[in-house]
Amino acid sequence: MDGSIPPAATTGTGCHGGRERMLDAAREAGKSAGMEQLLKDYPRGPHDQPQSMCPAFGSLRVGLRMKRVATILSGSACCVYGLTFTSHFYGARRTVGYVPFNSESLVKGQLFEDIRNAVYETAKPADYDAVVVINLCVPTASGVPLDLLPKQIDGVRIIGIDVPGFGVPTHAEAKDVLTGAMLKYARTEAENGPVARPKHIDDRPTVAMIGELFPADPPGVGALLAPMGMAVSPNLPCREWRDMYAALDCDVAAAVHPFYVASVREFRAAGRPVVGSAPVGYEGTADWLSAIGKAAGIASAKIDAAKAAHLPAIRAALEANPIKARITVSGYEGSELLVARLLIEAGAEIPYVGTACPRTEWSEADRAWLEARGTYVQYRASLEQDLCAMQDVKPDLAVGTTPLVQKAKELGIPALYFTNIVSARPLFGAPGAGSLAAIVAAQTKGAARFNRMVSFFEGVGTGQTAGYGFKGKPVEPPGARDRMRKARAAKAKAMEAVGT
Ligand code: SF4
Repeated sequence: MDGSIPPAATTGTGCHGGRERMLDAAREAGKSAGMEQLLKDYPRGPHDQPQSMCPAFGSLRVGLRMKRVATILSGSACCVYGLTFTSHFYGARRTVGYVPFNSESLVKGQLFEDIRNAVYETAKPADYDAVVVINLCVPTASGVPLDLLPKQIDGVRIIGIDVPGFGVPTHAEAKDVLTGAMLKYARTEAENGPVARPKHIDDRPTVAMIGELFPADPPGVGALLAPMGMAVSPNLPCREWRDMYAALDCDVAAAVHPFYVASVREFRAAGRPVVGSAPVGYEGTADWLSAIGKAAGIASAKIDAAKAAHLPAIRAALEANPIKARITVSGYEGSELLVARLLIEAGAEIPYVGTACPRTEWSEADRAWLEARGTYVQYRASLEQDLCAMQDVKPDLAVGTTPLVQKAKELGIPALYFTNIVSARPLFGAPGAGSLAAIVAAQTKGAARFNRMVSFFEGVGTGQTAGYGFKGKPVEPPGARDRMRKARAAKAKAMEAVGT
């Protein structure tokens, strides 16, 4: 956890196997500094390899969501296939660029030339503001030097990043790798001269929210801030390049998703104060408004006015949507602690929260709040820890990742997917306070149905009944081998006849 590259004796496996070998290879290929920075920004925990989708998906998604930004992958075809499939599954409406390679082009350095050619072909100012190139595991381990790409071509910014599974533990943190790299570029541009005027400029002091949010949340936070005379700037990751100038021009950066370490570094370099936690529930919103107002130098009377304007509605929403259930929360989005706070304020009992993201100072207030209410918080939680907690606690509802939900259903425990269900709802202010009660109630009501299903399917698809149902060694159909041999011989003879 100290950020240094551990000795080879601690070898684990990347999703392709041989993580330490890949790290050593990357180091030997001249990527030591880059790897050290990744390991420092995204320290490891109990699981040192991806337990969810390929981490590079996070960076790819950030690039694909931006207008006038081309995103090109450099990696093994199987990785690129998976990443492209997942991107389009999640509704990407842009092309995923790909520079293929083989052993020869990789070893001889031709891959870098191919990437450079692809970048020159793509970087047309009429089409793009920026071209992003993402090195996946193999090109990173092979030292393909994206830092040697030109920094810009005809005004189109070129950004090359390494996002290997053996250096970035989760796809959440990979979002930060690209967001941080783009912010650094934009900050340097702004420091060196005039930049394009952002479309959304507010004369009031602004707050830049860091983290992928439900679309209704930023305007909701804008309403929370209005009585303090403040507004939200475009949130990060941005939808277009010039939004980054507006975000960097904020008065306070809000690390609502606490794992954006590289992005926070850029805000700090731009001299902006950074506030952690988020406006969740009654207490979370009260504390967050105070912290933001204080960081922005807002008079306490205005901060109190913002609280008086919004806290009663949040209290009313929580009381109107009580949650009476024991729930375990786990996920890899980075907002798990916030969701748990909200559920507890609505009345839920939360004995366990597991997040695949690391502990950072930006979630400290949430961790302390949860632990004071008896919740066990596990950072860098592995799937195994999440499963153990669920089996131990036997909750009325388990909120978690796909494999956890699958296991919960096998055990007859009602379960909800964090990413598809919980993250697809507002979280902040009064809309957030009322958003989860209905789905929790609907799921927990189904407990009896789950138990009926478990007893109905008892034994199906497990143990001896898994697979095709063979108990012993499969028996060859009599004569099959002989028939095949004769058919092959006849075919060979026929070919021979054609040849003569
Ligand atoms: S890029 Fe690395 S982590 Fe991603 S799928 Fe390929 S081998 Fe796995």
